[in-house]
Amino acid sequence: MMDSLDTLLGNGHTRPRAGRKVLVLFGTRPELIKLAPVIAELRQQNYRPLVVSSSQHKGLLAPFLKSLNVDVDIDLDVMKADQSPNDVLSNVIAGLDRILVDEMPDVVLVQGDTTTTLAGALAAFNRKIPVGHVEAGLRSGDIASPFPEEANRRLITLIASFHFAATEQNRQNLLDEGVSDRQIFVTGNTVVDSLHAMLDRLRVSDEITDLIAETAGQKRILLTTHRRESFGDAMSRNLEVLARFVERHENVSLIFPVHPNPNVRAATEAILAGRDRVHLLEPLDHSDFLALMKASWLVVSDSGGVQEEAPSLGKPLLVLRENTERPEGIAAGVSKLVGSDAARLEELLEENYADPAWIDSVKQIPNPFGDGTASRRIVEALRSHFAPKTEPEVARTVSL
Ligand code: UDP
Repeated sequence: MMDSLDTLLGNGHTRPRAGRKVLVLFGTRPELIKLAPVIAELRQQNYRPLVVSSSQHKGLLAPFLKSLNVDVDIDLDVMKADQSPNDVLSNVIAGLDRILVDEMPDVVLVQGDTTTTLAGALAAFNRKIPVGHVEAGLRSGDIASPFPEEANRRLITLIASFHFAATEQNRQNLLDEGVSDRQIFVTGNTVVDSLHAMLDRLRVSDEITDLIAETAGQKRILLTTHRRESFGDAMSRNLEVLARFVERHENVSLIFPVHPNPNVRAATEAILAGRDRVHLLEPLDHSDFLALMKASWLVVSDSGGVQEEAPSLGKPLLVLRENTERPEGIAAGVSKLVGSDAARLEELLEENYADPAWIDSVKQIPNPFGDGTASRRIVEALRSHFAPKTEPEVARTVSL
């Protein structure tokens, strides 16, 4: 499969080595968090990153651009009210196509599994520009969940030339689907690089500093939930369990930065508003969020990125999902899968309140998702690919 992809894409590029142009595309908060350290590393290693935002989630992105020091060169500005995946897909492909023609990048880097990611990969593939997929090889095993992300991941795998896998398990998933080993690079997840950079220059707002002071001595639960699969009854039942748990235990508080999605807002308002020791916040910038995670007793989340970050801070996490494409956290003992039954969430909360053994043990476990060097490994893999064909390292490179 991949050999014919090599043939299709031709045999390299004519641009002089010093001017290699790498188009980096993102559209949502997690993509930006995970690509910011790659952009910084590209600059550091004298590449010319061309930073393109689709603005799929415009409002959520804006504060992060500032705190992560990312300057957008081109904004496709696709976001509109009630957008469907097809709106985003078609608008990103149309907007990006013009840029690909004008700018002729040597490679396009996309991250993860959003509709922006798929659109970027498709647009580049159709222009015969090699695609580098950051965070390749995640699989839930269920094409319907997460939707449409699982399908996006698999489709991107088919058309990418470089697969930057975070873990060995991700590499294995790719090999199982017939991806050639020489096109897979196990790098760790760049979210860990981003987290390290942010911890080095943590700037906590007054609001969060005050909240941490106000809840001192409490067992803080940090909650995030916003995935489509969680909407409706599943989300309401989980929020009810959390509300009851906080009510029963006077030394527990719940801190929840509420995602702007109207489904999340409505359920939260109905179930959690106005309760003692429940703190409902607007989405936080990364610094504030990590400061709260550091101060938490337990994290409860359906987020992918949060599953990968929590172990770097030694924090135990209950995964509010039926399945997870990040089983490494469960295998390592840093997270537990709640599944679809809210009663199980209640059980896990009570169990761990009564017996701190698991929560204490997590502090000692290294993060299975990365060590903070992923961005460097990604850029080195690109460098090796672009190296003149006479250099010895060529044997390890991909010929496109
Ligand atoms: N995050 C944040 N502020 C918040 C909630 C989350 O900075 O209020 C960060 C979090 O640290 C993680 C990322 O957003 O790096 C996760 O994004 P999200 O949950 O939106 O997406 P997912 O990871 O599920 O794709």
